[in-house]
Amino acid sequence: MKQRKRPYFGSIKWRVFLGCTILIAIMLAVLWIFQTCFLSTFYKGIKTRQIQLGAQEIVKHINDENLNDRLETISKEKQLCIVITDETGYVLYSQEAWKNCILHRMNAVLYLRAYYITQEHGGTYLEQGKAAHGPDEENALWSDGRQKLTLSPETMLYTTITENKDGSARFIMLYTNLSPVQATVETLRMQLFWVTVLMIVLAFVLALILSHTITGPIRRINESAKQLAKGRYDTQFEEGGYQEIRELAQTLNYAAGELSKVEGLQRELVANISHDLRTPLTMIIGYAEVMRDLPGENTPENIQVIIDEATRLSTLVNDVLDISKLRSGTETMQVEVFNLTESIRQILQRYSKMTDYRITFRAEGDVWVKGDPLKLSQVVYNLVNNAITYTGKDKVVDICQTTAQGRVRISVTDTGEGIDPKLLNDIWDRYYKVDKAHKRAQIGTGLGLSIVKSILDLHPGTTYGVRSKLGEGSCFWFEMEQQPAPLPGTTE
Ligand code: ADP
Repeated sequence: MKQRKRPYFGSIKWRVFLGCTILIAIMLAVLWIFQTCFLSTFYKGIKTRQIQLGAQEIVKHINDENLNDRLETISKEKQLCIVITDETGYVLYSQEAWKNCILHRMNAVLYLRAYYITQEHGGTYLEQGKAAHGPDEENALWSDGRQKLTLSPETMLYTTITENKDGSARFIMLYTNLSPVQATVETLRMQLFWVTVLMIVLAFVLALILSHTITGPIRRINESAKQLAKGRYDTQFEEGGYQEIRELAQTLNYAAGELSKVEGLQRELVANISHDLRTPLTMIIGYAEVMRDLPGENTPENIQVIIDEATRLSTLVNDVLDISKLRSGTETMQVEVFNLTESIRQILQRYSKMTDYRITFRAEGDVWVKGDPLKLSQVVYNLVNNAITYTGKDKVVDICQTTAQGRVRISVTDTGEGIDPKLLNDIWDRYYKVDKAHKRAQIGTGLGLSIVKSILDLHPGTTYGVRSKLGEGSCFWFEMEQQPAPLPGTTE
């Protein structure tokens, strides 16, 4: 099949590069926006908060004896010029943090003017110096007719009125300088430009390294998979690298193991089936020829041999068909609630003529279950058949039905040689026979328990297993959820 050529940009390298670049682009874009557009706004916000906090602290300690010391500390820590006057504009405290600050150039008249303006604004007033000043009249606040003061750009003035403990007003004025942000913004812009270039180069290098480390193991797995596709089931997938790749390699190793098992099984199947078909066919042909050529040999016993062998053949063919249908999933289930106990009784009737066997069925009452009646009867039939085949010399087979906690358990026990505990897991596999040389095992197809397993697996909530002790016998069991008996008159 011709493979469609994938575009080069679909490779992991380009995908990783694209991913890294997008991530970096988003991060840088956010940085750009914050650093350049909002820096000044953020900075002013922080400064405003600082000046307000300074004012709040002064208000809190306005009656302190050592107010002057505190003002000195606040002034130094927060880089604030502080002037406190009374309601007449008389200066009570003064701290200078900036040379040439407007507060320390104002006279009593201007203090008083500022006091009234603050009063008009509800007790607090904030003014920031504008970058471009309008005509002098706009700065009327700072003019008393004789003296005109303008608040220079990148400066901030905050005033507030409070009372001291004797009820007289205290007018607090704070001033601070704002560092020029524009220069910082320019520097940041330049830095960000180079950071962007560096990041793109880094993204490319990172993409190369990442894609190399990721694709390396994938390429090796791909090579091994091609070998596997050619039928080399002993191919080993390298389990190194990332967890996902390790898991993929493990899965592929498992699949390769299973494929090689299937191949082995197929070979065994051909050998088994040809052997199993040949034996009864030889017998049938042999007996039929004898009966044709020798008139005296046309006896019911010889005919019985032909019938028995033909039955064996038909069993084998049916088993093979059943198992392939069950395994391929083409078999549909006819699920209904039915009387399991009654169904077992009917199966056991088929063995009523085997009088040399002691087949017992113990059940306390009838039990209903939900499932496919035909398939479940095949389970019982296969288990009982095996028990009869492998039971001991006493020819005892016991079938027992017990119920507990809403579940019913069917156990089929024999007194045969038992099964080696090491092989207990294998007996459920297709075509598995414990002792292929064993005369009795040669009768079976090695499919019976595999059919049992496949059928029970199709019934949700069903469990099954086997207990066996060498020399004492085996007990095969399965357990299902019990269903309430249908009301009389309704169909089962
Ligand atoms: P078979 O048709 O050979 O019996 P099964 O799938 O039914 O195939 O069983 C697989 C193998 O399990 C048998 O070959 C036999 O060795 C072992 N086995 C099954 N049932 C019993 C049993 N009741 N006692 C001892 N061995 C058993």
